[in-house]
This record gives sequence, C-alpha cells and structure tokens, in this order.
Amino acid sequence: MTDAPPPPASKPPHDWRPDRFMVIAAHPDDADFGPAATAARWIDAGSVGWLVCCTSGDAGGEDSHADPLALAALREGEQRTAAAIVGYAGITFLHQPDGALANDLILRELLVREIRTFRPDAVFATDPEVLFHDGGGINHTDHRAAGMAAADAIYPAARNPMAFPGLAREGLIAHAVRRLYLFWSNHPTVHVDVSATIGRKVEALRAHPSQIRDPEGLDGRMRAWAAEEGAPIGAAAAEAFRLIVIDDDADEGPDAPAGPA
Ligand SMILES: [Zn+2]
Repeated sequence: MTDAPPPPASKPPHDWRPDRFMVIAAHPDDADFGPAATAARWIDAGSVGWLVCCTSGDAGGEDSHADPLALAALREGEQRTAAAIVGYAGITFLHQPDGALANDLILRELLVREIRTFRPDAVFATDPEVLFHDGGGINHTDHRAAGMAAADAIYPAARNPMAFPGLAREGLIAHAVRRLYLFWSNHPTVHVDVSATIGRKVEALRAHPSQIRDPEGLDGRMRAWAAEEGAPIGAAAAEAFRLIVIDDDADEGPDAPAGPA
C-alpha cells in the first residue's frame, strides 16, 4: 500500500493553543482514543495538561467473575503509563462507578474542585449530545454523562464565586475556563494537524493492553482515522473537535464582562 498525497485543504488547520488545558474523560483510555495527539502537540509546544478520569474502568472487561477493584487498579496503572507518554503533568481519578456515571451534584463538585485547582484555559470532554454516532453505534452512557458533567462544571459552577462555597473557603476560588473542545462529536468544527504526534497517540494506546483487542492493527486503524480527519485541512493526520468558545480572547482581563448569571 502506498500513501496517497492528502487532498487539497478546504479549511485552515486550527492553531489556537492554551497555556493550560484539562482532559475530562469517563474511562481510562478515552483520553488516548480521544485528543491524545492534540494534547501531545500542545504539550510539546509548551502547554501544561492535566487528565481527569471520572471512573477507573472497573466494568471494562469480559469476565463476569473478575474483581472490579483489581481491574480498576490495572487500568489506573495503564492510564498512568499512557499519560506519561503523552506528557501530562498529572492525573486525577475520581473513582465514580463505571457504567453508572451520573451527572449529579457530587460529580459536579468533584470536577469544579479539579478545575479550580488546575485552572485550565481549555477543557476537552466527550460531546454529550451524541447519543448515536453518525458512523454507527451507540455512545456509552458514561461518555454522555461525563461530557454533560464537564459542561455543567465549567459553566457556570467553576466560575461562579457563590457555587460550592466550601471550595472557596478552602482557597479554591472561581475560575473561568475559556474554551471547551468536544471530542467524538458528530459535528466537528475545528481540525488540529497532528501529523507530528499521531505516533505518540498510538504509543499511548498501546499502554492499555487490557482494552486493545487488535494490537497489530492498531497503528493502521488510528492512522486511517486520523487521515480521514486530516482531509479537510490537507494534513496527513488530524483530530477533529466541536469547539465551544465561552470567552473570546478579547474578553480577557479584569474588566471583562461577567456574562449573565
Ligand atoms: Zn470510554
């Protein structure tokens, strides 16, 4: 098989980059199947990234007799190895139940705590509006719950000084996330050229052997997917996101309008 040259670009690549970003994922391996190559590209360019896993994937196996706690420990270890390959500064596991993740006030407070602690400019999360993937299949309930919980934690809770006042008393003051990047969306709006870092994404995915059923075909599958997403910007590999701009760059600074409550 020979590599065909990419088709002519129909739009420019997305080149905005945050100083600090956070990935909020339902399961260990979601961030690596999701925005890992963009995360690696931004980290290589000087951004600082933090990963939050809402569950530890304790239901992500084929054996009904398996010990969920042992599986959770195994998958946390896999995710720590993968996160080191991508280059995250750190990772938090929220230990919520796999397969039963709920966008409730408990999860929201946990996420607001993470956001106010790390203070990211941008957050990656799964698109909560995807119930059925355009390419086929049902989107896992945890992916929908995690995406909705991330959106609700970002706005308005994390930036509202009166939300979760106990956090403020601990010194975790309000923080405004400016951009939300939704991955696995049916309606992507921006494409990031990841030609330089797609190999790191594959390497990070290889750190999840408990979840990869076809390790031989992994590299080809991931590069074919990335090539598809790269076509609109004429890149050999890209990751596509639905971008939600909450605060324009021009809105920065102490005089910025606070927005409606
Ligand atoms: Zn998942």
